[in-house]
Amino acid sequence: MNGVRAIMAAADTAARWHAAQRRKGEAQEPYVNHLLEVAALIAEATEGLDPDLVIAGLLHDSVEDSGISASEIEARFGADVAALVMAVTDDKTLPKAERKWLQVVMAPKKDFRARMLKIADKTSNLRAMAASPPAGWSDERRRDYIAWARAVVDGARGVSPWLEGQFDQAAAEADTALAG
Ligand code: ZN
Repeated sequence: MNGVRAIMAAADTAARWHAAQRRKGEAQEPYVNHLLEVAALIAEATEGLDPDLVIAGLLHDSVEDSGISASEIEARFGADVAALVMAVTDDKTLPKAERKWLQVVMAPKKDFRARMLKIADKTSNLRAMAASPPAGWSDERRRDYIAWARAVVDGARGVSPWLEGQFDQAAAEADTALAG
């Protein structure tokens, strides 16, 4: 498949795989909004030159949240996409605190494409935290989340000044929303 066809097949697949899922924020946006935002950030950051990474952006939460297997992703979209998705997939058999700590520790060890995917994911999450924070989250919980996202991204930096700028802006907006 060429790049455009593969990307649209992945967007269609992602929308189906996450059809029943909503974002955590008060606005309850369809989950696919997050996946499209991450993929769009990657497409910009790579100037359209890395279709597999854009596809991985669309599918990055499918193993963790929709129970899709790496082999299914590989069969449909190839080994490169499957490896990228697995590089940003947490081991859900571990306790949540350990998974969050591992993201911080492992970020610097990932290759530059996985780091780009991480930064795009955290950028989308902090934009959402600023625009529509999860109902029921205390200020302290939001503050902890923002600090954790910054710690993960600090370990992933050095891949795209533009994308890192987008993250810094999203983090600043999330801080401002908290203060306001
Ligand atoms: Zn995500």
